[in-house]
Amino acid sequence: MRVRQFLATDVTRAPVQLQINHRWCSPSFGARRGTDRPDMVVLHYTAMESCKAAAERLCDPQFEVSAHYLIGENGVIHQLVDEVARAWHAGRGAWGGITDVNSHSIGIELANTSLHPFPDVQMVALESLLSEILNRYKISPARVIGHSDMAPGRKSDPGVRFDWQRLARQGLSIWPKGVTPNRTVGDFYDHAARFGYPTDASPEEVLNAFRLRFRPHATGPLNDRDLAIITELATRFPVDLPSQDA
Ligand SMILES: [Zn+2]
Repeated sequence: MRVRQFLATDVTRAPVQLQINHRWCSPSFGARRGTDRPDMVVLHYTAMESCKAAAERLCDPQFEVSAHYLIGENGVIHQLVDEVARAWHAGRGAWGGITDVNSHSIGIELANTSLHPFPDVQMVALESLLSEILNRYKISPARVIGHSDMAPGRKSDPGVRFDWQRLARQGLSIWPKGVTPNRTVGDFYDHAARFGYPTDASPEEVLNAFRLRFRPHATGPLNDRDLAIITELATRFPVDLPSQDA
């Protein structure tokens, strides 16, 4: 167990002492392409019965999957891949102009079956790790996204039980505010693309991915509330559109 110390630049947070466990190492990684440092973070759940089972999968070369970090239900942070390297967690998808999300991101897996809430101790560990990563690389909270955001229709993690508002309250993600449904203009999918959602996903897939994150209990066809929220998000957090990865 190595201890990494740092002083958070965010004055609202006390200095944090992160404990990083190096018990497991994944052989599944490569060199980042087109960039040498991450500018976004992708959150996942493992959808496996235990942290140990997930670690074994993420460290088994035959599966060719990995993540930089895996956080257990007990709050232990395991580092599986060095941050310098391109871990294999995101797969096919995009966010804004980024189509090689693995090259641009840090991937964090949360041990979770997909059917259970995320324990407080696990969320606290995630928040400490995220705070350190965002500070160190100067990553905007708007660039902390879910796997489901970059791969609509294909992925649904970290899922409806993940508390994005909790992260947003700490400046570690974003959440809509001051939404006014009766003053909306424009097209939902234009705003969704301006916010970052992939433009090659179907309208239904984009709406489902958006609701999974921002309106987990909403059902039925697209409505004014959806439009109001995505308008607010796209206005306040338009995604950077760097040149397309190719
Ligand atoms: Zn995932």
